[in-house]
Amino acid sequence: MESAPSSSRGLSLPTKILLGLLVGAAIGVTLNLAYAPPLGGEKTEAWKTLEGIADGVVKPFGDLFLSMLFMVVVPIVFSSLFLGVAGLGSVQKLGSLGGRTLLWFLGTTVVAVLLGIFLVTVIAPGKAVSPEVAAQIKAQYLGDAQARIQQGAQAKGWIQMLVDIVPRNVVGAAADNGKVLGLIFFALILGAAAIRLPAERTRVLRELLEGIYELCVRVLGWVMSLAPYGVACLIFHATAKLGIDVMKLVGVYFLTAMGGLVFFQVVVITLLAKVFAGLSPGRFYRGIRTLVVTAFSTSSSNATMPTTIRTATDEFGVPKEIAGFVMPLGATMNMNGTALFEGVSILFLAQVYGQDLSFAQQAMVVGMAVLTAIGAAGVPGGSLPLLAVVLTQIQVPPELLALILGVDRLVDMTRTIPNVTSDLVCSLWLARREGHVLKA
Ligand code: ASP
Repeated sequence: MESAPSSSRGLSLPTKILLGLLVGAAIGVTLNLAYAPPLGGEKTEAWKTLEGIADGVVKPFGDLFLSMLFMVVVPIVFSSLFLGVAGLGSVQKLGSLGGRTLLWFLGTTVVAVLLGIFLVTVIAPGKAVSPEVAAQIKAQYLGDAQARIQQGAQAKGWIQMLVDIVPRNVVGAAADNGKVLGLIFFALILGAAAIRLPAERTRVLRELLEGIYELCVRVLGWVMSLAPYGVACLIFHATAKLGIDVMKLVGVYFLTAMGGLVFFQVVVITLLAKVFAGLSPGRFYRGIRTLVVTAFSTSSSNATMPTTIRTATDEFGVPKEIAGFVMPLGATMNMNGTALFEGVSILFLAQVYGQDLSFAQQAMVVGMAVLTAIGAAGVPGGSLPLLAVVLTQIQVPPELLALILGVDRLVDMTRTIPNVTSDLVCSLWLARREGHVLKA
Protein backbone atom coordinates (compact mmCIF):
# COMPACT_ATOMS: atom_id res chain seq x y z
CA MET A 1 0.00 0.00 0.00
CA GLU A 2 1.09 3.55 -0.61
CA SER A 3 2.85 5.06 2.32
CA ALA A 4 2.85 8.65 3.38
CA PRO A 5 2.08 9.79 -0.15
CA SER A 6 2.43 13.44 -0.98
CA SER A 7 -0.88 15.12 -1.66
CA SER A 8 -1.52 17.36 -4.58
CA ARG A 9 -0.69 20.33 -2.39
CA GLY A 10 2.61 18.77 -1.48
CA LEU A 11 1.79 17.92 2.13
CA SER A 12 2.41 14.35 3.22
CA LEU A 13 -0.41 12.40 4.87
CA PRO A 14 1.19 12.48 8.36
CA THR A 15 1.53 16.26 8.12
CA LYS A 16 -2.08 16.59 7.03
CA ILE A 17 -3.29 14.41 9.93
CA LEU A 18 -1.32 16.52 12.38
CA LEU A 19 -2.78 19.66 10.82
CA GLY A 20 -6.25 18.12 11.14
CA LEU A 21 -5.59 17.56 14.83
CA LEU A 22 -4.29 21.08 15.39
CA VAL A 23 -7.04 22.85 13.44
CA GLY A 24 -9.84 20.75 15.03
CA ALA A 25 -8.41 21.21 18.53
CA ALA A 26 -7.74 24.94 18.11
CA ILE A 27 -11.30 25.68 16.97
CA GLY A 28 -12.81 23.33 19.57
CA VAL A 29 -10.81 24.70 22.50
CA THR A 30 -11.43 28.33 21.48
CA LEU A 31 -15.18 27.84 21.25
CA ASN A 32 -15.20 25.89 24.50
CA LEU A 33 -13.35 28.67 26.31
CA ALA A 34 -15.69 31.26 24.86
CA TYR A 35 -19.03 29.58 25.41
CA ALA A 36 -18.86 26.65 27.81
CA PRO A 37 -20.89 27.22 30.97
CA PRO A 38 -19.08 26.72 34.29
CA LEU A 39 -19.50 23.23 35.77
CA GLY A 40 -23.11 22.86 36.84
CA GLY A 41 -23.93 26.34 35.45
CA GLU A 42 -26.81 27.32 33.17
CA LYS A 43 -26.37 26.64 29.42
CA THR A 44 -26.52 29.75 27.24
CA GLU A 45 -28.27 29.75 23.85
CA ALA A 46 -24.91 30.08 22.10
CA TRP A 47 -23.61 27.01 23.92
CA LYS A 48 -26.71 24.99 23.06
CA THR A 49 -26.25 25.89 19.37
CA LEU A 50 -22.59 24.95 19.53
CA GLU A 51 -23.44 21.62 21.15
CA GLY A 52 -26.05 21.02 18.48
CA ILE A 53 -23.53 21.61 15.70
CA ALA A 54 -20.83 19.53 17.41
CA ASP A 55 -23.18 16.57 18.07
CA GLY A 56 -25.43 16.77 15.07
CA VAL A 57 -23.14 17.84 12.25
CA VAL A 58 -19.45 17.39 13.04
CA LYS A 59 -19.55 14.18 15.06
CA PRO A 60 -21.39 12.14 12.42
CA PHE A 61 -18.53 12.86 10.01
CA GLY A 62 -16.01 11.71 12.57
CA ASP A 63 -18.12 8.62 13.28
CA LEU A 64 -18.20 7.82 9.60
CA PHE A 65 -14.42 7.69 9.57
CA LEU A 66 -14.38 5.44 12.66
CA SER A 67 -17.04 3.13 11.21
CA MET A 68 -15.02 2.70 8.04
CA LEU A 69 -12.08 1.71 10.20
CA PHE A 70 -14.17 -0.81 12.16
CA MET A 71 -15.76 -2.11 8.97
CA VAL A 72 -12.71 -4.11 7.97
CA VAL A 73 -12.22 -5.75 11.38
CA VAL A 74 -13.95 -9.07 10.76
CA PRO A 75 -12.48 -9.87 7.33
CA ILE A 76 -8.98 -8.71 8.33
CA VAL A 77 -8.94 -10.60 11.64
CA PHE A 78 -10.20 -13.79 10.07
CA SER A 79 -8.12 -13.81 6.91
CA SER A 80 -4.93 -12.64 8.54
CA LEU A 81 -5.00 -15.11 11.43
CA PHE A 82 -6.13 -18.04 9.29
CA LEU A 83 -3.45 -17.40 6.70
CA GLY A 84 -0.84 -16.82 9.41
CA VAL A 85 -1.48 -20.17 11.11
CA ALA A 86 -2.06 -22.10 7.87
CA GLY A 87 1.24 -20.71 6.59
CA LEU A 88 3.02 -22.19 9.58
CA GLY A 89 2.91 -25.54 7.75
CA SER A 90 6.02 -24.47 5.91
CA VAL A 91 7.62 -23.34 9.16
CA GLN A 92 7.14 -26.82 10.58
CA LYS A 93 9.09 -28.22 7.66
CA LEU A 94 11.94 -25.85 8.45
CA GLY A 95 12.44 -27.55 11.79
CA SER A 96 14.52 -25.76 14.36
CA LEU A 97 14.90 -22.62 12.25
CA GLY A 98 11.12 -22.22 12.10
CA GLY A 99 10.70 -23.06 15.77
CA ARG A 100 13.31 -20.53 16.86
CA THR A 101 11.81 -17.84 14.67
CA LEU A 102 8.39 -18.32 16.25
CA LEU A 103 9.93 -18.39 19.70
CA TRP A 104 11.62 -15.06 18.96
CA PHE A 105 8.42 -13.51 17.64
CA LEU A 106 6.38 -14.63 20.59
CA GLY A 107 9.01 -13.87 23.25
CA THR A 108 9.79 -10.34 22.08
CA THR A 109 6.10 -9.53 21.51
CA VAL A 110 5.17 -10.59 25.04
CA VAL A 111 8.05 -8.53 26.50
CA ALA A 112 6.87 -5.50 24.50
CA VAL A 113 3.25 -5.79 25.68
CA LEU A 114 4.34 -6.22 29.29
CA LEU A 115 6.60 -3.18 29.05
CA GLY A 116 3.73 -1.13 27.61
CA ILE A 117 1.39 -2.26 30.37
CA PHE A 118 3.98 -1.57 33.03
CA LEU A 119 4.57 1.97 31.76
CA VAL A 120 0.92 2.86 31.48
CA THR A 121 0.22 1.49 34.94
CA VAL A 122 3.05 3.45 36.53
CA ILE A 123 2.55 6.72 34.62
CA ALA A 124 -1.25 6.45 34.52
CA PRO A 125 -1.68 8.92 31.63
CA GLY A 126 -5.43 8.26 31.57
CA LYS A 127 -5.76 9.75 35.02
CA ALA A 128 -4.22 13.09 34.04
CA VAL A 129 -7.57 14.89 34.37
CA SER A 130 -9.80 15.94 37.22
CA PRO A 131 -12.56 13.52 38.28
CA GLU A 132 -15.17 15.98 36.90
CA VAL A 133 -13.67 15.89 33.42
CA ALA A 134 -13.31 12.12 33.64
CA ALA A 135 -17.00 11.87 34.45
CA GLN A 136 -17.84 14.14 31.51
CA ILE A 137 -15.77 12.00 29.16
CA LYS A 138 -17.47 8.88 30.41
CA ALA A 139 -20.90 10.40 29.91
CA GLN A 140 -20.04 11.65 26.45
CA TYR A 141 -18.71 8.37 25.12
CA LEU A 142 -21.11 6.09 26.94
CA GLY A 143 -23.89 6.69 24.38
CA ASP A 144 -24.73 3.61 22.43
CA ALA A 145 -22.04 1.67 24.20
CA GLN A 146 -24.37 1.50 27.20
CA ALA A 147 -25.92 -1.86 26.37
CA ARG A 148 -22.54 -3.40 25.74
CA ILE A 149 -21.18 -2.09 29.00
CA GLN A 150 -24.10 -3.38 31.02
CA GLN A 151 -23.86 -6.71 29.34
CA GLY A 152 -20.25 -7.05 30.38
CA ALA A 153 -20.66 -5.34 33.72
CA GLN A 154 -20.78 -8.50 35.75
CA ALA A 155 -17.11 -9.14 36.38
CA LYS A 156 -16.29 -12.55 35.01
CA GLY A 157 -14.01 -15.01 36.65
CA TRP A 158 -11.10 -16.74 34.98
CA ILE A 159 -12.96 -19.89 34.12
CA GLN A 160 -15.94 -18.15 32.57
CA MET A 161 -13.62 -15.96 30.51
CA LEU A 162 -11.84 -18.99 29.11
CA VAL A 163 -15.13 -20.75 28.39
CA ASP A 164 -16.37 -17.65 26.56
CA ILE A 165 -13.43 -17.75 24.16
CA VAL A 166 -15.01 -20.68 22.37
CA PRO A 167 -18.02 -19.44 20.41
CA ARG A 168 -21.16 -21.52 20.20
CA ASN A 169 -22.04 -19.80 17.00
CA VAL A 170 -19.20 -18.39 14.96
CA VAL A 171 -21.45 -16.16 12.86
CA GLY A 172 -22.89 -14.72 16.07
CA ALA A 173 -19.37 -14.11 17.39
CA ALA A 174 -18.42 -12.24 14.22
CA ALA A 175 -21.60 -10.20 14.36
CA ASP A 176 -21.28 -9.24 18.01
CA ASN A 177 -18.58 -6.64 18.59
CA GLY A 178 -18.00 -7.88 22.09
CA LYS A 179 -17.29 -11.45 21.01
CA VAL A 180 -14.61 -11.11 18.36
CA LEU A 181 -12.36 -13.24 20.55
CA GLY A 182 -14.57 -16.15 19.45
CA LEU A 183 -13.86 -15.32 15.83
CA ILE A 184 -10.14 -15.15 16.57
CA PHE A 185 -10.32 -18.59 18.17
CA PHE A 186 -12.21 -20.00 15.19
CA ALA A 187 -9.70 -18.55 12.70
CA LEU A 188 -6.78 -20.00 14.66
CA ILE A 189 -8.28 -23.46 14.95
CA LEU A 190 -9.31 -23.53 11.30
CA GLY A 191 -5.78 -22.48 10.34
CA ALA A 192 -4.40 -25.31 12.47
CA ALA A 193 -6.72 -27.75 10.70
CA ALA A 194 -5.52 -26.45 7.34
CA ILE A 195 -1.95 -27.45 8.22
CA ARG A 196 -3.13 -31.07 8.57
CA LEU A 197 -4.86 -31.21 5.19
CA PRO A 198 -2.98 -31.71 1.92
CA ALA A 199 -2.14 -28.22 0.57
CA GLU A 200 -4.15 -28.85 -2.59
CA ARG A 201 -7.38 -29.17 -0.59
CA THR A 202 -7.10 -25.69 0.91
CA ARG A 203 -5.43 -23.87 -1.98
CA VAL A 204 -8.62 -22.20 -3.26
CA LEU A 205 -9.65 -21.07 0.21
CA ARG A 206 -6.22 -19.63 0.87
CA GLU A 207 -6.22 -17.73 -2.39
CA LEU A 208 -9.67 -16.40 -1.65
CA LEU A 209 -8.65 -15.23 1.82
CA GLU A 210 -5.45 -13.70 0.45
CA GLY A 211 -7.63 -11.74 -1.96
CA ILE A 212 -9.96 -10.62 0.84
CA TYR A 213 -7.00 -9.59 2.95
CA GLU A 214 -5.48 -7.53 0.17
CA LEU A 215 -8.78 -5.85 -0.57
CA CYS A 216 -9.19 -4.88 3.08
CA VAL A 217 -5.68 -3.49 3.21
CA ARG A 218 -6.46 -1.40 0.15
CA VAL A 219 -9.68 -0.15 1.74
CA LEU A 220 -7.77 0.64 4.92
CA GLY A 221 -5.41 2.75 2.81
CA TRP A 222 -8.36 4.74 1.50
CA VAL A 223 -9.78 5.13 4.99
CA MET A 224 -6.44 6.42 6.25
CA SER A 225 -6.37 9.04 3.52
CA LEU A 226 -9.57 10.41 5.09
CA ALA A 227 -7.87 10.53 8.49
CA PRO A 228 -7.00 14.26 8.42
CA TYR A 229 -10.69 15.17 8.10
CA GLY A 230 -11.98 12.43 10.41
CA VAL A 231 -9.44 13.36 13.06
CA ALA A 232 -10.27 17.07 12.76
CA CYS A 233 -13.99 16.33 13.29
CA LEU A 234 -13.43 13.95 16.19
CA ILE A 235 -11.01 16.18 18.05
CA PHE A 236 -13.16 19.26 17.43
CA HIS A 237 -16.11 17.44 18.95
CA ALA A 238 -14.11 16.31 21.97
CA THR A 239 -12.43 19.64 22.68
CA ALA A 240 -15.49 21.82 22.01
CA LYS A 241 -17.46 19.82 24.55
CA LEU A 242 -14.79 18.91 27.06
CA GLY A 243 -12.28 21.75 26.76
CA ILE A 244 -8.52 21.87 26.87
CA ASP A 245 -8.21 19.08 29.45
CA VAL A 246 -8.69 16.57 26.67
CA MET A 247 -5.58 17.84 24.94
CA LYS A 248 -3.66 17.39 28.16
CA LEU A 249 -4.76 13.76 28.23
CA VAL A 250 -3.70 13.27 24.63
CA GLY A 251 -0.33 14.90 25.37
CA VAL A 252 0.47 12.66 28.34
CA TYR A 253 -0.62 9.58 26.37
CA PHE A 254 1.57 10.60 23.45
CA LEU A 255 4.63 11.04 25.65
CA THR A 256 4.02 7.69 27.37
CA ALA A 257 3.63 5.79 24.09
CA MET A 258 6.60 7.49 22.43
CA GLY A 259 8.75 7.10 25.54
CA GLY A 260 7.95 3.39 25.68
CA LEU A 261 8.74 2.86 22.00
CA VAL A 262 12.01 4.77 22.15
CA PHE A 263 13.00 2.84 25.29
CA PHE A 264 12.15 -0.48 23.63
CA GLN A 265 14.21 0.33 20.55
CA VAL A 266 17.17 1.96 22.27
CA VAL A 267 17.44 -0.35 25.29
CA VAL A 268 15.70 -3.66 24.56
CA ILE A 269 16.46 -4.12 20.86
CA THR A 270 20.03 -2.82 21.30
CA LEU A 271 20.53 -5.28 24.14
CA LEU A 272 19.11 -8.13 22.08
CA ALA A 273 21.48 -7.23 19.24
CA LYS A 274 24.39 -7.34 21.68
CA VAL A 275 23.41 -10.58 23.42
CA PHE A 276 22.06 -12.59 20.48
CA ALA A 277 24.11 -11.20 17.60
CA GLY A 278 27.23 -9.99 19.40
CA LEU A 279 26.97 -6.51 17.86
CA SER A 280 28.09 -3.38 19.67
CA PRO A 281 25.50 -0.55 19.66
CA GLY A 282 27.78 1.53 17.40
CA ARG A 283 28.11 -1.24 14.81
CA PHE A 284 24.41 -2.13 15.01
CA TYR A 285 23.13 1.42 14.47
CA ARG A 286 25.64 2.15 11.72
CA GLY A 287 24.21 -0.82 9.84
CA ILE A 288 20.54 0.02 10.34
CA ARG A 289 20.49 3.74 9.53
CA THR A 290 18.67 3.31 6.22
CA LEU A 291 16.33 0.73 7.72
CA VAL A 292 15.29 3.06 10.54
CA VAL A 293 14.66 5.96 8.17
CA THR A 294 12.66 3.75 5.78
CA ALA A 295 10.49 2.28 8.55
CA PHE A 296 9.87 5.70 10.07
CA SER A 297 9.00 7.41 6.81
CA THR A 298 6.83 4.65 5.31
CA SER A 299 5.16 3.61 8.58
CA SER A 300 4.81 0.17 7.05
CA SER A 301 6.62 -3.10 7.84
CA ASN A 302 5.52 -4.47 4.47
CA ALA A 303 6.85 -1.52 2.50
CA THR A 304 10.09 -1.71 4.47
CA MET A 305 10.58 -5.47 3.96
CA PRO A 306 12.90 -5.25 0.92
CA THR A 307 15.11 -2.83 2.91
CA THR A 308 15.04 -5.14 5.94
CA ILE A 309 16.21 -8.05 3.78
CA ARG A 310 18.88 -5.95 2.09
CA THR A 311 20.13 -4.62 5.44
CA ALA A 312 20.45 -8.16 6.80
CA THR A 313 22.29 -9.53 3.78
CA ASP A 314 24.40 -6.58 2.62
CA GLU A 315 25.15 -4.79 5.88
CA PHE A 316 25.49 -7.78 8.19
CA GLY A 317 26.14 -10.76 5.92
CA VAL A 318 23.06 -12.83 6.81
CA PRO A 319 22.58 -15.59 4.18
CA LYS A 320 19.77 -14.88 1.71
CA GLU A 321 17.78 -18.01 2.66
CA ILE A 322 17.56 -16.95 6.30
CA ALA A 323 16.69 -13.32 5.57
CA GLY A 324 14.22 -14.43 2.90
CA PHE A 325 12.50 -16.70 5.39
CA VAL A 326 12.43 -14.51 8.51
CA MET A 327 11.51 -11.12 7.00
CA PRO A 328 8.29 -11.91 5.13
CA LEU A 329 7.01 -13.82 8.15
CA GLY A 330 8.22 -11.11 10.54
CA ALA A 331 6.70 -8.26 8.53
CA THR A 332 3.27 -9.79 9.06
CA MET A 333 3.58 -11.57 12.38
CA ASN A 334 6.26 -9.92 14.47
CA MET A 335 5.34 -6.42 15.56
CA ASN A 336 6.96 -5.54 18.87
CA GLY A 337 6.33 -1.81 18.58
CA THR A 338 2.70 -2.41 17.73
CA ALA A 339 2.30 -4.77 20.69
CA LEU A 340 3.76 -2.18 23.08
CA PHE A 341 1.57 0.54 21.60
CA GLU A 342 -1.50 -1.67 21.99
CA GLY A 343 -0.73 -2.35 25.64
CA VAL A 344 -0.30 1.37 26.32
CA SER A 345 -3.35 2.46 24.33
CA ILE A 346 -5.78 -0.13 25.65
CA LEU A 347 -4.98 0.52 29.29
CA PHE A 348 -4.84 4.28 28.72
CA LEU A 349 -8.33 4.33 27.27
CA ALA A 350 -9.56 2.01 30.03
CA GLN A 351 -8.11 4.48 32.55
CA VAL A 352 -9.78 7.43 30.81
CA TYR A 353 -13.04 5.54 30.89
CA GLY A 354 -12.58 4.71 34.55
CA GLN A 355 -12.70 1.00 33.82
CA ASP A 356 -10.76 -0.86 36.48
CA LEU A 357 -9.54 -4.09 35.01
CA SER A 358 -9.46 -7.23 37.09
CA PHE A 359 -6.34 -9.37 37.00
CA ALA A 360 -8.08 -11.78 34.64
CA GLN A 361 -8.99 -8.92 32.31
CA GLN A 362 -5.42 -7.62 32.35
CA ALA A 363 -4.16 -11.07 31.46
CA MET A 364 -6.68 -11.10 28.63
CA VAL A 365 -5.39 -7.72 27.44
CA VAL A 366 -1.88 -9.19 27.27
CA GLY A 367 -3.12 -12.20 25.30
CA MET A 368 -5.22 -10.13 22.95
CA ALA A 369 -2.52 -7.52 22.39
CA VAL A 370 -0.15 -10.34 21.39
CA LEU A 371 -2.72 -11.92 19.07
CA THR A 372 -3.80 -8.67 17.48
CA ALA A 373 -0.19 -7.56 16.99
CA ILE A 374 0.27 -10.84 15.10
CA GLY A 375 -2.98 -10.27 13.21
CA ALA A 376 -2.34 -6.62 12.32
CA ALA A 377 -1.47 -5.76 8.76
CA GLY A 378 2.01 -4.27 8.25
CA VAL A 379 0.67 -1.07 6.73
CA PRO A 380 0.13 2.44 8.10
CA GLY A 381 -2.57 2.25 10.77
CA GLY A 382 -2.74 -1.54 10.34
CA SER A 383 -3.31 -2.15 14.03
CA LEU A 384 -6.07 0.43 14.55
CA PRO A 385 -9.05 -1.75 13.54
CA LEU A 386 -7.79 -4.48 15.86
CA LEU A 387 -7.38 -2.09 18.73
CA ALA A 388 -11.12 -1.49 18.48
CA VAL A 389 -11.64 -5.23 18.95
CA VAL A 390 -9.70 -5.37 22.19
CA LEU A 391 -11.41 -2.27 23.58
CA THR A 392 -14.82 -3.77 22.94
CA GLN A 393 -13.73 -6.95 24.60
CA ILE A 394 -12.98 -5.13 27.87
CA GLN A 395 -16.18 -3.09 27.65
CA VAL A 396 -14.54 0.20 26.77
CA PRO A 397 -16.32 2.02 23.90
CA PRO A 398 -14.08 1.83 20.81
CA GLU A 399 -15.29 5.34 19.95
CA LEU A 400 -12.75 6.50 22.54
CA LEU A 401 -10.11 5.79 19.91
CA ALA A 402 -11.00 9.30 18.75
CA LEU A 403 -8.78 10.58 21.55
CA ILE A 404 -5.60 9.00 20.25
CA LEU A 405 -6.09 9.03 16.49
CA GLY A 406 -4.85 12.57 16.06
CA VAL A 407 -1.37 11.72 17.26
CA ASP A 408 -1.35 8.16 15.99
CA ARG A 409 0.51 8.75 12.79
CA LEU A 410 3.65 9.83 14.59
CA VAL A 411 3.31 6.94 17.03
CA ASP A 412 2.74 4.63 14.04
CA MET A 413 5.90 5.81 12.30
CA THR A 414 7.84 5.27 15.51
CA ARG A 415 6.41 1.83 16.36
CA THR A 416 7.23 0.57 12.89
CA ILE A 417 10.96 0.93 13.72
CA PRO A 418 11.09 -1.78 16.45
CA ASN A 419 8.63 -3.79 14.35
CA VAL A 420 11.30 -4.23 11.68
CA THR A 421 14.50 -4.08 13.73
CA SER A 422 13.25 -7.00 15.82
CA ASP A 423 12.92 -9.09 12.62
CA LEU A 424 16.42 -8.07 11.66
CA VAL A 425 17.96 -9.08 15.00
CA CYS A 426 16.10 -12.40 14.81
CA SER A 427 17.73 -13.12 11.43
CA LEU A 428 21.15 -12.12 12.81
CA TRP A 429 20.70 -14.51 15.72
CA LEU A 430 19.64 -17.39 13.47
CA ALA A 431 22.52 -16.77 11.06
CA ARG A 432 24.97 -16.84 13.93
CA ARG A 433 23.50 -20.03 15.35
CA GLU A 434 23.84 -21.69 11.95
CA GLY A 435 27.55 -20.93 12.11
CA HIS A 436 27.70 -17.92 9.79
CA VAL A 437 30.10 -15.13 10.68
CA LEU A 438 28.45 -11.71 10.62
CA LYS A 439 30.21 -8.79 8.92
CA ALA A 440 32.26 -6.79 11.39
N1 ASP B 1 2.37 0.50 10.83
C1 ASP B 1 2.67 -0.70 11.54
C2 ASP B 1 3.58 -1.56 10.71
O1 ASP B 1 3.45 -1.60 9.51
C3 ASP B 1 1.44 -1.47 11.92
C4 ASP B 1 0.64 -0.75 12.98
O2 ASP B 1 0.99 -0.86 14.16
O3 ASP B 1 -0.32 -0.05 12.66
O4 ASP B 1 4.43 -2.23 11.22
